Amino acid sequence: MFRPLFKILSPAGSSAKLSIFIFHRVLPAADPLMPFEPSARQFEWMARLLARNFTVLPLREAAQRLMDGTLPAAAAAITFDDGYVDNLEVAWPILQRHGLPGTFFIATAFLDGGRMWNDEIIEAVRLAPSVPLDLKAFGLGQYQVDGVESRIACYSAILGQLKYFEHDRRAQVAQEIGRQSGVPEHCNLMMTSSELRTLRAAGADIGAHTHTHPILECMDDLRAFKEIEEGKLELEAILGDSVQLFAYPNGVPGRDCSERHGEMVRHLGFEAAVTTEPRCSNRSANPYHLSRFTPWDRTPVRFAVRCLMQLRKN
Ligand SMILES: [Zn+2]
Repeated sequence: MFRPLFKILSPAGSSAKLSIFIFHRVLPAADPLMPFEPSARQFEWMARLLARNFTVLPLREAAQRLMDGTLPAAAAAITFDDGYVDNLEVAWPILQRHGLPGTFFIATAFLDGGRMWNDEIIEAVRLAPSVPLDLKAFGLGQYQVDGVESRIACYSAILGQLKYFEHDRRAQVAQEIGRQSGVPEHCNLMMTSSELRTLRAAGADIGAHTHTHPILECMDDLRAFKEIEEGKLELEAILGDSVQLFAYPNGVPGRDCSERHGEMVRHLGFEAAVTTEPRCSNRSANPYHLSRFTPWDRTPVRFAVRCLMQLRKN
């Protein structure tokens, strides 16, 4: 019902705007501890809404047509970050049912049984017994974990503090907190290399997201360059194909990544890169700093209105 409005706010051609959506996980069933990640049931209506209101293109094509001034009205692209196995098992079948293309940005270090530091913390808090969780040894304080709300508040606070720790220290502290709570070392949260090839063979676009998911702005340029390069080369070795798209980890321009990293990405042969600056992109956008936003609303009308408001912003 919103499609005419989307077309007015985002006309075809040289004044077109591109909406790029970010997702991370799509949970098989709702997880009370992760209310920010859509369940399969919620993603089903989101996909239907996107299919009805937008012309969803593969991101590579959308970025090229944005620059060429040939985008259709209400153009959009759908992206997923990090490489969760639920992208293949839950999200992809839903996208396919609705005829929607998707681009998946993979941090290669966590393929084949790895776990990202933030998931280590969430699992540690999930498993922690209902007594105050004492993380004073890590300089992270003490937290109540006697209910779902307090557990969410606890891991959110820890994630907020740990996010800008030095990269190696962050991984080490997260691992130690995980060990303290008995989080198993090996897990199947992320895709295997073979599952990634399956996703590619099914028609998904695969993009790079560095090797170990550092905040690039928090490390020296040589290390940042190597992280971007290693992620690309590893993915290309796994897929036997070139990788042309990149997503900056965390991705807030000026805080997490900068023009310097855009230059590195261009130098490494990528065609386009995406940030997490929450807006739409127009033809004057830098193709190495395309904006994306996370649709977090959990009712279809609010979700659609949020997408319309993004289009009105620029
Ligand atoms: Zn990421």
